[in-house]
Amino acid sequence: MQLKTILNAVEKHKSFVYSEARWSKNEATREIEFEVRPRVKSEPVCSGCNKKRAGYDKLPPRRFEFVPLWAIPVFLVYALRRVNCPQCGIVVERVPWASGKTRQTNSYRVFLATWAKRLSWMEVACVFGTSWDSVFRAVRWVVQWGIVHRELNDITSIGIDEIQYRRGHKYLTLVYQLDDGARRLLYVARDRTEASLNGFFNILSQSTINGIQFACTDMLPAYLKVLRLRASQALNILDRFHIMKKFGEAIDNVRAEEARQMKQDGNEAVLTNSRWCLLKRKANLTKSQVVKLRELMKYNLRSVKAYLMREDFQRFWTYTSSTWASKFLQEWCRRANQSKIVPMQKLARTLLKHQPLLLNWFESQGLSSGIVEGFNNKAKLTMRKAYGFKEYETIEIALYHQLGKLPEPETTHKFC
Ligand SMILES: [Zn+2]
Repeated sequence: MQLKTILNAVEKHKSFVYSEARWSKNEATREIEFEVRPRVKSEPVCSGCNKKRAGYDKLPPRRFEFVPLWAIPVFLVYALRRVNCPQCGIVVERVPWASGKTRQTNSYRVFLATWAKRLSWMEVACVFGTSWDSVFRAVRWVVQWGIVHRELNDITSIGIDEIQYRRGHKYLTLVYQLDDGARRLLYVARDRTEASLNGFFNILSQSTINGIQFACTDMLPAYLKVLRLRASQALNILDRFHIMKKFGEAIDNVRAEEARQMKQDGNEAVLTNSRWCLLKRKANLTKSQVVKLRELMKYNLRSVKAYLMREDFQRFWTYTSSTWASKFLQEWCRRANQSKIVPMQKLARTLLKHQPLLLNWFESQGLSSGIVEGFNNKAKLTMRKAYGFKEYETIEIALYHQLGKLPEPETTHKFC
């Protein structure tokens, strides 16, 4: 069997024919080339209006990179025709295996992008003997195609999250769909301002917005305001993940302050290496962290008190009735106020101020904040795996690629 036969089986385009496979002229690099010719009497398609038009002339042959075979690079070589289009003027033809001015075939781009979901972009470049930049361009094209072709209706529940992507308070706003069977990243925006979230509502039709019933957020005033203005029918829920994150921050403040104080007073450094055993949930502690926690409990420390207050607050999420949850909340906040621990008092004030939104969690029957947390972790992992990504655009594309569940351009053959 000839290579041409295989190529025809995986990448057939009815108005074009392939030559036999040959080695490229450059002997230093081993590359396979197939020459492509238009079928006799087939007319070129105008890239402006997608209509068949009379040919005008031919450009010098160009190489389009195809999926490699046995680690040997493969190229299609084709001399693009120009058409004389009454509508668009003299323009280059549209070919079915590549789009725009790119030198990668669509199949090759889908191939690289599929691998880029499993490996880091650098690894993909290494394994397939190409550059980071070419992997990036492939992923970007696949993502842009997916965004244009995705459906954005029937969205009932959304989760809005903020995430730091660079040092120096560089944040992103991420919006997820949380519906059963349709969990995906819907939107990425710079910053965590009103404009960031407004951008999301701007891409939706009004009927889609009207269909949103639940929106999980943290307490960022910008998010709360935009939700009130743009989707007032949606039940705004402060979810468990975001609230417990606030507890973590408060405990961290208490611990840092207390450690400083103790050092000043010349006390032994009881709190050294205690950060994680105070921040993690008990069930997630390592053996040595359990020992450390037990040791900490012997001292009458504000950090430990704050830790116990958080553990106590976990009960809030176990209520089934919002009336009882509300009673518990009031009681917890009263105790926090008496604790004389400033960060906890501050947290109690914040919780009381947002009480109605907190209690909405029970109305939504505990709309799973675990989903938002899961997405948050995956987003962080994506950004970590993409280390070296500094530009916002690159991070945005990586996130859509990994979490967006975007449709992909159809190819005649699945290469991986
Ligand atoms: Zn045209």
